[in-house]
Amino acid sequence: ARARAHAGLNAFLHFDEAAAAEATRAAARASDARRAAGQALGPLDGLLIAHKDVFVTTDFPTTAASRMLVGAQGPYRSPFDATVVERLQAAGTVSLGKLNCDEFAMGGANEHSAFGAAKNPWDRARIPGGSSGGSAVAVAARLLPAATGTDTGGSVRQPAALCGVTGLKPTYGRCSRHGMIAFASSLDQAGVLARSAADCALLIDTMAGFDPLDSTSAEFAGTEPNRPGLIGAQLAARRAAVADPARPLAGLRIGLPKEFFGEGLAADVRAAVQQGLAQLQALGATLVDVSLPRTELAIPVYYIIAPAEASSNLSRYDGVRYGHRAEGAKDLLELYRKSRSEGFGAEVKRRIMIGTYVLSHGYYDAYYLQAQKLRRMIADDFQAAFQACDLIAGPVTPTVARPLGGGSDPVTEYLADIFTLPASLAGLPGMSVPTGFGAGGPLGLPVGLQLIGNVWQEATLLHTAEAFQ
Ligand code: GLN
Repeated sequence: ARARAHAGLNAFLHFDEAAAAEATRAAARASDARRAAGQALGPLDGLLIAHKDVFVTTDFPTTAASRMLVGAQGPYRSPFDATVVERLQAAGTVSLGKLNCDEFAMGGANEHSAFGAAKNPWDRARIPGGSSGGSAVAVAARLLPAATGTDTGGSVRQPAALCGVTGLKPTYGRCSRHGMIAFASSLDQAGVLARSAADCALLIDTMAGFDPLDSTSAEFAGTEPNRPGLIGAQLAARRAAVADPARPLAGLRIGLPKEFFGEGLAADVRAAVQQGLAQLQALGATLVDVSLPRTELAIPVYYIIAPAEASSNLSRYDGVRYGHRAEGAKDLLELYRKSRSEGFGAEVKRRIMIGTYVLSHGYYDAYYLQAQKLRRMIADDFQAAFQACDLIAGPVTPTVARPLGGGSDPVTEYLADIFTLPASLAGLPGMSVPTGFGAGGPLGLPVGLQLIGNVWQEATLLHTAEAFQ
């Protein structure tokens, strides 16, 4: 009923109230039956969630918010569930539908959805952020306690920040990408948006773990096998090791990269982040200055590598195997051309063109190869910073949520990704945790504090965020 009442937020792409009610009742019956049989219920049993529409699902259509995946017979239906969906379902969660996002997860405002933007519940005239905008809106508006998202360059952390919810993008390789529609395969990770760090921990720990169906899914998370439950065990150990409950972060060194606090940061966001940092200090953490000198380069590097991979991944949408097929093509080439030009939106086409260009003969060395080298240097900068600290903190976004309809200039939109791209390029886990409000809207607009950990250090991030909340 809440989802219907808030349909104007456009959070869902696929939602059927009768089916959702039936799924909820079926889950309650299943839980009752298990309880009656003397079986213990898990923490996620009966939890209502929904998935970003880039995870393929058998129960609902999957479109990645693109007309390309809507064919003559209707939206695409997958014959299998994504691994993370399957794992969450096996743990007892009940999926109520599929959530809005930018087309193929390309964007940072949810305005590139072929089915219209989702609206920020704090001020419906503003963007929710993206690309996992529907997920952030559904959690912020209390339509759901939690939702999945995906993060390639910030798509979990950024909408979480702009909608005032908690988001976690794990280490690259922690979660399987099997059944997650590919955007930029070397960067894509499944993530989660929820009301608290503790909830994020429960969900990510169920989604995580090695999967033979994804060759980049890690078998080992540091020295231990990458298995579901590992983060929870590490988090429990951290909770147990707290000596003084008033100072749970005693001994934790938090690095503040000076490049994250430069001129581009809006005053209201800076103030809210600084207030959060003071709170971390009060909880026992030590703040140290660090440097990530190639922060600015993350934008050109990402916007070469991600489109390059996207141009290759999106070549499968040819109008033949599934999705949209143009009518009246005279030959195969025309069928490809017409289907793709009708099916893809403007931002997706822009990425395909950039990607094809940087990979083409004569430009590859100048752009793509150079970007790959710089990507490694950005990752090395993080390792140098982690010599002096246990995790890194800063803003998630340079400003609070901007008004809808202001995203006509792609470069301006790309620049807003400056604080989320570096961790993505380095494959590091990152969180967005609400830290007060900036100016705008009837109530003020949420600001996110970003926490970035070293590889496999999700438990450090979650423990810090939990203490903060
Ligand atoms: N805003 C970034 C982009 O447009 C990140 C998107 C994402 O993480 N999926 O590519």
